[in-house]
This record gives sequence, C-alpha cells and structure tokens, in this order.
Amino acid sequence: MSKKIAPVKKNDQFEADIIDLTYQGMGVAKLGDFPVFVANSIPGERVVVGITKVASSYAFGRVVKVLQESEDRNHDIDNALVTTGIAPLANLKYPAQLTFKQKQIQELLKKQHIEAEVAATLGMENPFGYRNKAQIPVREIKGQIETGFYRRNSHNLVPIEDYFIQDPKIDEAVLIVRDLLRKYHLSAYDEVNHRGVVRTVMVRRGYYSHEMMIVIVTKSKKLPMQEVLVDEIRQALPEVTSIMQNVNPDKTNVIMGEKNNLLWGNKVIFDNLLGLKFAIGPNSFYQVNPQTTEKLYTLAAEKAELTGTETVIDAYSGIGTISLTIAKHVAQVYGVEIVPGAVDDAKRNADINGIKNAKFVLGKAEEQMIKWAAEGLKPDVIFLDPPRKGLTPELIEAVGIMKPKKIVYVSCNPATLVRDLDEFINTGYQIDGAIQPVDQFPQTTHVESVTVLERQK
Ligand code: SAH
Repeated sequence: MSKKIAPVKKNDQFEADIIDLTYQGMGVAKLGDFPVFVANSIPGERVVVGITKVASSYAFGRVVKVLQESEDRNHDIDNALVTTGIAPLANLKYPAQLTFKQKQIQELLKKQHIEAEVAATLGMENPFGYRNKAQIPVREIKGQIETGFYRRNSHNLVPIEDYFIQDPKIDEAVLIVRDLLRKYHLSAYDEVNHRGVVRTVMVRRGYYSHEMMIVIVTKSKKLPMQEVLVDEIRQALPEVTSIMQNVNPDKTNVIMGEKNNLLWGNKVIFDNLLGLKFAIGPNSFYQVNPQTTEKLYTLAAEKAELTGTETVIDAYSGIGTISLTIAKHVAQVYGVEIVPGAVDDAKRNADINGIKNAKFVLGKAEEQMIKWAAEGLKPDVIFLDPPRKGLTPELIEAVGIMKPKKIVYVSCNPATLVRDLDEFINTGYQIDGAIQPVDQFPQTTHVESVTVLERQK
C-alpha cells in the first residue's frame, strides 16, 4: 500500500464546515476523507481553519475566523478555559453539553452492537463552581511564580485566576497560597531540569462543612519557610482546618507522592454526603462534585431496588461512600479498595456514622472477590465504580463465579463501560432499563453514568 499523503501542511488555511465533535471536544472538519480536528469549533459552524499540526492520517487546526456560528455556541467564557484542560466543553451551551454526553454513550453502544436505551443526561441547575477539589500546578514564568493550568496536550502553564468550575473559595485559596509563595521567594518546580521546590497546590473544601485542606506538594523533603507559610495561610483563610506537605521526589506526571507531613491541624477534613459524615484524607479519592454525587448514589441505590435483606459488595469502595450510604437498605455490605489510606478512612467513616453492617478490606477487587467467593460469600447485588480504565477480565470472571442477581455499574468512562457491558452480556447478564448519564463534570468532556445489569434466568 502506498503511504497516505496528507492533503494539507502546517499554516495552510481553508474554509470548512464542522461536521462532528470528538469525545475530547474538538470540532471535526473533513478534506475529502481526511479529518482535521479543530480546537474550539462546534458542529454546524462554518469556519476558516488554520492548520497547526499534521500527522499522516489526520491534522490539527485552529479557528482563524468564524463565518457561520452555531446556536449552541456559548460566548460568555474566557478562551483559556477551553484551550486548557479545565473546561474544554465550556464553548457549548449547557443543554448541548448534556446531549453530547448522552449521544456519546449511544454511539459507543451502537459500535459494540449492544441494544440499550440511554436516558437524557441529568444535569446541574448551576453547572459552575462545583468542584470541591483542585490540583493546581505551580511553575515559574518570566521569573515569577504562577498557578494555572496546562494548555491541552502540553505542559505549558497558562496562568489562571478564575477556574470557572471550582468552588470560588478554592480559587481564592490558590491565589493566597500563590502570593505567599511569591512573598517568601520559594522556588517553583522545574519539570525539565527536575529542580525547584513547589510542584502543586492541592485544595479541598467540604461542600457542607466548609472545612478546607491545603496540601503543598514539594519535590524536596524540606519545605522552606514552613512556619511562616502556615501562620499566614491560617490568618488569610479561617476555613482551613488542615495544612499538609506531600513529598513527591520523582520525575513523574503523578501529582502526589506517598509521604504526607502534617504541618498544622487535622490529617483529614470532614464533609457530609446524603446525611452521613465522611473523613477525607489527602490521598483518598472523593467525588469532586458533591451535589451530583448525591443524585448519582441515590439513583444507583434506587436502581438496585434494595429491600434490607441483601448481601452487597461495593468493589472499588474508596472511603466507603457507596457502602455507607446504602448500608441502611441492606443486610450486609462488603467494600474492597486498593489504597490503604482510603480503607482506613472507610473504616473510620463507618465508626463515625455508627454503621455496623459494613466491612472494608484492603486489596485488589479482582483478587478479593475470588477469595470471598471461595469463602462462600454470595452477594445479591454488586456495585462497581471503577476508575477510568474500567474492569479487568479477572474481575468480570469473579462476578461470573458469584452470580449476583444484579450489578450496578457506575462508570466515569463510556468507552470502558461499553467494553465491559459486552463482557457481562456474554457472561449471562442483560441490561435492565435505560443507562442513565449524570453530569458529574459540567463543562468538561467527562461522562458519568449508571447501568443496571440483571442475571438472566
Ligand atoms: N466508590 C468510591 C470510589 C470510586 S473511584 C466513591 O465514589 O467515592 C475508584 C476507586 O477504586 C478508587 O478509590 C481507587 O483507589 C480504587 N481502585 C482502583 N483500582 C482498584 C482495584 N483493582 N481494586 C480495588 N480498588 C481499586
């Protein structure tokens, strides 16, 4: 076969219709059958495209000029939000974002030849300022410490002050810490030379409790000016109840290291979810959108149709949020989770809330479930809430051995969801009712959903 030759080269300009939107939120234009992915363009628009990068079977472009605009375009936004990874869908009006997410699941199901209904995405009333956590890279630009976000597909920091989707109190905290780092002349981490001190500022704020945790992630073991930083943070931010240093000495993209030093206050913050109290440590996963998480878990519990007699497994249990919120509707719930700190939090959360019928185990879900099966544990319902990479074949096999009547799959990635659903269908399960997308991450391309599977007779 002859090598394909791209019909464009860098800096070429041409007029084109935007005919589709990728799952990453890029508009798609076609030159014959050659796709060009155009940043910040929307289906239905006619634009002048400027080519920014060419590969053998596709190219990237930017909008030089909009000739005809889509009705779905949202103007009220800062361009930096779309060009960084913060809010890549913010150029779409909110109803169009919700449709985009529903359609994404529908298309993936169709490709996999799975027949299932996808309900309209449940959205937020105010789809802004919802994130209860921020991890903000700290870099030096022109001799000054800056906080912001990386331009998409790069590690070039774009300084940002209003992050749009984060709790505004978190934005404020990030700026206060940035200004203190400037004031006391700390050095920012330099990725290229693997030098400097401060890599990331992490802030978490309880949606109900308003307790705030600040974590300064450093490359070095030592955090210079530690005492005065703590004093000033406490003075400027009275909501802060925990100040930590996390040490990450490695040359890596992973944000947090393993070692935490408590600089002041508590090692955890507390927040509420569906009426229960949760302790949340710096390394534990906690859903970033507390408002829709309540909707999501309520829905997942409803869909499981729990009657109080069931034995339930919550694989991927994190700090126990699903287990503990369903505990009162079941006989016994078993959680399994791979991060030790999260399991400690989960046990503590069961105690805090006086819940006696939830047991948490540290381990890999796929291995622990085989152990439980061997011990004779027969769950009626299994909740699955895996990370983006979805389930392993071993996990699906373990479910096949346990043969629960129902599986409730909470997914944050439609691609792996659909792949896994196909496996479950082959193992003797069928999708019960509609798949329900819930917009956990407005303004971003992330798609969360709940699917119920039922064992066929
Ligand atoms: N249900 C929880 C956590 C969901 S996030 C909540 O909503 O808060 C997914 C969790 O799975 C994370 O806590 C992660 O640490 C954990 N995890 C990842 N791989 C795992 C595995 N193989 N076995 C068990 N837990 C795993």
